[in-house]
Amino acid sequence: MWSGLADGIAKLWRGGRTSRAGQHQTVNGSVTRGEPCDGHAAESSVEQVRAFLRSHTDFLERFVMEEVELETLERWMIRSTQRAKKRPDTSATGKNGRKTSLSRWKFCVHADKRQMLQELTRSLQQRPNKAHVLWELAGCICSAVGAEGYQLYLAENGDPEMLGLYLGQDGRLENGQTVMERMGSDLTVPVYVAKTREPLRLSRGELDPRFPDRLPNKNGAAHALYQPVIQTDGQLAAVVELWRGDPFHEEDEEIASSYLVWGGIALHYAQLYLSMNKQRKLNDFLLAVVKSIFQDMVSMDTLIMKIMNFAQRLVDADRASLFLVDSRNKELYARIFDIGITSEEAADSKTGGGVSGSEESIAKLQNSTEIRFPVGTGIAGQVAKTGEVLNITDAYCDSRFNRTIDKLTGYRTKTILCMPIFIRGNVIGVVQMVNKHCGCFTKEDEDAFEMFAVYCGLALHHAKLYDKIARSEQKYRVALEVLSYHNTCSDTEVTRAQEQKIPNSIPGIEDYYFSVFKLDDFEKAKHAIYMFKDLFGLSRFDSDSLIRFTLTVRKNYRRVPYHNWTHGFSVANSMYSVIKHTQNTFKANECLALYIASLCHDLDHRGKNNKFMLDTESPLAAIYSTSTMEHHHFNQTVTILQQKGHNIFSKLSSWEYKQVLGYVKHCILATDLALFFPNKAKLSQLIAEQTFSWGDSEHRLLIQAVAMTACDLSASAKPWNVQVKTVKVIFEEFYEQGDAEKLAGHVPSPLMDRDRKCELGAIQVGFLTGICLPCYTLLCKLIPETKPLLDQCQANLERWRQIDEEIKKQKEEKTGVDALSFLDNVLETSEKTDMEDKISSGSLLEGEKEGQGTSEKNCIQEPSHQHSELTHSMDQSP
Ligand SMILES: [Zn+2]
Repeated sequence: MWSGLADGIAKLWRGGRTSRAGQHQTVNGSVTRGEPCDGHAAESSVEQVRAFLRSHTDFLERFVMEEVELETLERWMIRSTQRAKKRPDTSATGKNGRKTSLSRWKFCVHADKRQMLQELTRSLQQRPNKAHVLWELAGCICSAVGAEGYQLYLAENGDPEMLGLYLGQDGRLENGQTVMERMGSDLTVPVYVAKTREPLRLSRGELDPRFPDRLPNKNGAAHALYQPVIQTDGQLAAVVELWRGDPFHEEDEEIASSYLVWGGIALHYAQLYLSMNKQRKLNDFLLAVVKSIFQDMVSMDTLIMKIMNFAQRLVDADRASLFLVDSRNKELYARIFDIGITSEEAADSKTGGGVSGSEESIAKLQNSTEIRFPVGTGIAGQVAKTGEVLNITDAYCDSRFNRTIDKLTGYRTKTILCMPIFIRGNVIGVVQMVNKHCGCFTKEDEDAFEMFAVYCGLALHHAKLYDKIARSEQKYRVALEVLSYHNTCSDTEVTRAQEQKIPNSIPGIEDYYFSVFKLDDFEKAKHAIYMFKDLFGLSRFDSDSLIRFTLTVRKNYRRVPYHNWTHGFSVANSMYSVIKHTQNTFKANECLALYIASLCHDLDHRGKNNKFMLDTESPLAAIYSTSTMEHHHFNQTVTILQQKGHNIFSKLSSWEYKQVLGYVKHCILATDLALFFPNKAKLSQLIAEQTFSWGDSEHRLLIQAVAMTACDLSASAKPWNVQVKTVKVIFEEFYEQGDAEKLAGHVPSPLMDRDRKCELGAIQVGFLTGICLPCYTLLCKLIPETKPLLDQCQANLERWRQIDEEIKKQKEEKTGVDALSFLDNVLETSEKTDMEDKISSGSLLEGEKEGQGTSEKNCIQEPSHQHSELTHSMDQSP
């Protein structure tokens, strides 16, 4: 090696001299430069250079440092190392048997270092935390520079004043906690290095004014090297201290630095990996929380287990507890207290595993009792009170810490991280994590928990709601059980109906002018059963179910003046008449739906119209904003069908069942008079354009709807005495609503105001003209068999016109008989006639004797009941 180097230097040296001479000669312009004069002279000058360099090593060093490129130098070093390897007895070994540092360094780069890096990487993969990376790195440097030992001082949050002596992974205490010895705030050498961020070499015995205490005694080693470790983000990570018997040199610093450059990157990635891993675990957990909320609907206890398990892992705590705030009693309480990690769970957490509480721990909590203490007491109580995070490094030094539990359990609490969980700005819970496995809880832990806490809040909130809903549901079930008992017919009633065989025929029942008033409620039920059997037979329907269904429907009509069982039965009877008079107009399932819908169309009516339900903010109006009551009537129908032994449609195929129920819903909703006007408009247009078709299902639905309205209003098409009797009960119901509105401070419509009784005649004229007559006219056009309804409605309209004129006339003449008493007289007379069980002709008014004789034979004595939906209609008619 030396010969080659010397040759080169000799050449350079000669070249340099020639060059300098050349400069001079260029002026003369004669001599060429650079060529050796002759072989002999060259040899002798090489020897001279060699001799010169041997005696001037400092010159050589300076020369090489200044003139030779680093790459060339490295190439030389490698070549030299390889030669040295071939010769076991090498001169490259220093006097203490150690390889020269530079060669050792290069050697490491190409051989040992690779292996070391591989080992280090493997180790980091297994335990990728910052302290461990640094510890491994320091070990590598120690080996590379041939130090006898090393120590690592970790800087907390990059603060040079906050150095802690790391005792390595093996230096664990009995409780498994890694030891980190805190350094005093005195200016020790590591702190000095941490502050200056420069490497430092020290030797025992040297007087250094910066360190009056001199070098700390490390196993008697005389020399020490200190290296700061700076992260890629510029933050101080640690200080490495190395010692040995021989002095450290500049190249040792170089070696250490080269490791630290790599180490910095490793550290960066280790941290990145850690935070990503943490984030991934957090994401997994949050997903699991969301899933359990929306899919499993977990119980509060399961959720709390999950939260505590995860909180504990998130910040690497030994224990975790969650306290919920009882805001009413200003207390904190916990049923599940102190979740410690089990070995199984620890293994699970290492693999980033699930978040569910183990079966074992859930079983444990079943036996646990509830802990309660006032807000403001202890660490958790303090956090609940202030809503601020408490990060306590030494619990026993904190006066707020309650030692009772430690005393009871024998557990020793050291560090505590206690954080609030908010929902809508209120603290709803407090999570307390105890004893971080390594050191104290950090700002990082607080940050990670903060995001987690948002989800905790949501999860707890939902779990609470879920618990509430679950409880309400149970209450609701109990209420339903009670209701279904009281709202279904009794067995006695069923037996009674069964015993009184259904007759084979009932004379006059299919007449449009049949009066329902002569029947009592039970007889109506029997008639309803007869009509059903007559229309549909019993081959596809169960007789007992039919009886039970009909009796329960009867029971579910309220005892209001008008919208009661009598009205429901009357409408069903009208529909029966329509179906009986119009064979083959409606299909079988349409008939079934039309009849059942008619019977049930006002179930549970409260004697108040939709507008009243909306105005009084009834819960029903909250459920259905349009056709409020009609939706309720249909729902009641379905509810009855669902009661045990009530499903009259049970023998239908599911397809038929669906179709019939669909028709029933359509038909019941159609009894909302608000829908009559658009239905009428559509049908009228179809008729005008001659496009109405019985084959079109949409057109059929329209005719069903109009048929429903016609039957609902059939009291207006009943013989006069039935009509008058019905009008009386209708207005009784109207006036009750008007009274309720007045009580609530509202002004009722004239229709419902009992103080405006004198307008009743005019109202009836308006109602029959505006709604009933158009309805029967339209129906008659499509189903001519319904003409008797139209005829009787027209006749009744005439009567109301006469009455209205008479009232007006008496008003003008001021005969002393006021309109109100006149009307009362009309109604009373009508009722009296009814009571006397006589045909009312002639006794009431002039013209009455002409009265509607056609109907009398059928309607027999009962004046009646018409006007059905006047209720809705008057509200909604123009
Ligand atoms: Zn009705």
